[in-house]
Amino acid sequence: MNLVFTNINRIYGTQPNGRHILKGTDMAEVPFLDHAYLRCRDGIITETGLMQDWVAKEDEQQVSLEGKWLIPGLVDSHTHLVFAAAREEEFRMRISGKSYEEIAAAGGGILNSALKLRQTSEEQLFEDACVRLHLMMAHGTTTVEIKSGYGLDTASELKMLRVIKRLKEHFPMQIRATFLGAHAIPAEFRQDRAGYIRLITDEMLPAIHAEGLADFMDVFCDRGFFSPEETATLLEAGLRCGLRPKIHANELGLTGGVQVGVQFGALSVDHLEHCGPDEIACLLESHTIPVGLPGTSYFLGLPYTPVRALMDAGLPVALASDFNPGSSPGPSLQMTMSLACTQMKMLPEEALNAVTLNAAAALDLNDTCGSLTPGKRADFCVLKGNPSLALIPYHFGVNHVEEVYVQGVRC
Ligand SMILES: [Zn+2]
Repeated sequence: MNLVFTNINRIYGTQPNGRHILKGTDMAEVPFLDHAYLRCRDGIITETGLMQDWVAKEDEQQVSLEGKWLIPGLVDSHTHLVFAAAREEEFRMRISGKSYEEIAAAGGGILNSALKLRQTSEEQLFEDACVRLHLMMAHGTTTVEIKSGYGLDTASELKMLRVIKRLKEHFPMQIRATFLGAHAIPAEFRQDRAGYIRLITDEMLPAIHAEGLADFMDVFCDRGFFSPEETATLLEAGLRCGLRPKIHANELGLTGGVQVGVQFGALSVDHLEHCGPDEIACLLESHTIPVGLPGTSYFLGLPYTPVRALMDAGLPVALASDFNPGSSPGPSLQMTMSLACTQMKMLPEEALNAVTLNAAAALDLNDTCGSLTPGKRADFCVLKGNPSLALIPYHFGVNHVEEVYVQGVRC
């Protein structure tokens, strides 16, 4: 179908063709068009331009977005949105002074989620995930990555990944699945770490590969979880099954996660609450994208990823919600942007680029989304009123998105 959106007050994120990632100081710019139109055919943008140059075509349907402001659909490159239950009782424990690691050691945290997930049916998981995805879409997210990692046995990890596969089929948005069997050592393998790693490499990965259930491979490489050596073994096995790494690294310390991620050609290394000169030097020698998750720092009281230092070094930075029941129960990337500005000292333009074009790059989808550029999907948000870009992170706790379009269709 041929569509043209006309009378748009402003279109943000009209990156020129070929600009597929923004590094360092380039992140501070968001190109825009005023008094503009946007044309698409079968959900793909064919043209953007100024209204003064617009000529109506006979075979296209016109949708007037009179006076509206548009931003590209937001891209959430790191979520755990398939889960069985919220963990607000642990929230209480933490308020009373217990650390995330202490709660995990007491059988809470990820293992608590695993216990509940194993007892929950695929149907129930799917229905609950649908509700969360609708909520995210209402807040402007049109592309999302979803991880497994609350199953921690073969049947339950496959169950999670099948739920994600159904979500891919059910929703118009782009969804990518990441296998995170190495999220934690399950209770039954506490005395046999090597045994659990073998279960992942010898049983889970071949089964996932056979059904084509994952796009990426993740490992929680950190203190108390998986060592860099164990991570190397796991990533090697994942690569043999065609799964490129995107890993959890340096959330709890300078634990070598960035280095092992880069060594195995990771598309992204996510978290980096702890990130020093060695990590920055390592990233500069690579194509691996650092991803900050400010919602987690906010919710757990952790340090914030030093994104200013990363950008000053000339690196690209992406941001994601890390939406999950334990450490970041917030699904809104508008809130992520606000935290980035107030806590990480990012400019609003840098924050928007970090949840659009650079986030798309962190999913290897930057040729299809992340900016409103001809050749990409017509995924965009119509904003409420006439806000400046800075109003989104400034006026926090408010949903600034009025309507969401995915491939040119209003959702
Ligand atoms: Zn995570």
